[in-house]
Amino acid sequence: MKAAILNGLNQKPILVECDRPSPANFEVLVRVDACALCRTDLHVLDGDLSSPKYPLVLGHEIVGIIEEVGERVENLQVGDRVGVPWLASTCLKCDYCVSGKENLCDSAKFTGYTVDGGFAEYTIADARFCFSIPDSYDSVHAAPLLCAGLIGWRSLRFTGDASRIGIYGFGAAAHVITPVALSEGRKIFAFTSPGDKARQVFAMELGCCWAGGSDESAPEELDAAIIFASVGSLVPTALKAIRKGGTVVCGGIHMTDIPSFGYDLLWGERTIRSVANLTRADGRDFFKRLDEVYIHTHVSEFELSKLNDATAEFRSGQIKGAAVILPR
Ligand SMILES: [Zn+2]
Ligand SMILES: [Zn+2]
Repeated sequence: MKAAILNGLNQKPILVECDRPSPANFEVLVRVDACALCRTDLHVLDGDLSSPKYPLVLGHEIVGIIEEVGERVENLQVGDRVGVPWLASTCLKCDYCVSGKENLCDSAKFTGYTVDGGFAEYTIADARFCFSIPDSYDSVHAAPLLCAGLIGWRSLRFTGDASRIGIYGFGAAAHVITPVALSEGRKIFAFTSPGDKARQVFAMELGCCWAGGSDESAPEELDAAIIFASVGSLVPTALKAIRKGGTVVCGGIHMTDIPSFGYDLLWGERTIRSVANLTRADGRDFFKRLDEVYIHTHVSEFELSKLNDATAEFRSGQIKGAAVILPR
């Protein structure tokens, strides 16, 4: 099979021919239809996340068809279409795992980081951590739901019953979760990089009630904010924008250092919290909601051989929704 292999830090993935893996025990072999590119892939490339597996196949927003199943797989069969998310597997027995917090398991494995991911014609996944994808989504448009969607969903849940939500960093996750939030009767205020008018227009087209730069103030006090941009200085900015009792949710896996700020910004029972990974319950809830609310994901498609072009365009902010790699 063809796979884009990353051999080390500060290198680029290179396309090679290699042996197709075989599924063992609870694993399935998935023929990859589509795999979306995520900010986290850039963090692995840049060494922001420690100790990735090398050589590594990146990519953790995978949709594909099962071609083989391991001998202990009971929940899936050959021909099923599945989504493979960032959370590849957990120990299933630690305190976190048995209390509904498997996203925090110390022994968790992560797709496209500590196990191989989806920028290849085939990948191996643990059947117990795969999701079934609603039939109303084709694989290309479903791929960004697997991380941008799921992490966005978990971030949105952490805003509680907030009705006015600011989103800082209006990329793949924001564009998936905005229609979900609107369907719940919430208002979304989009904050982009200062001066990024094209992205502000995109946010307004998606139904946001206001869009501006992160250096601007929202026209109303916000109940909560979600920060998807990996920019720590946005934390005090967002704290300033929310009302007493509000929450700032940091949705990214990596953030630059948060500058010091006065206690008055946190005072008034404001909360800052991070979002770490996802649980299978998030996936079940999210995909059930997507059966009720169709979300049109905006995608730019790239062949596997153009992965590095996709990465460069994504990094420079040229891609409005999500970049999706098609391995065939
Ligand atoms: Zn565990
Ligand atoms: Zn991701």
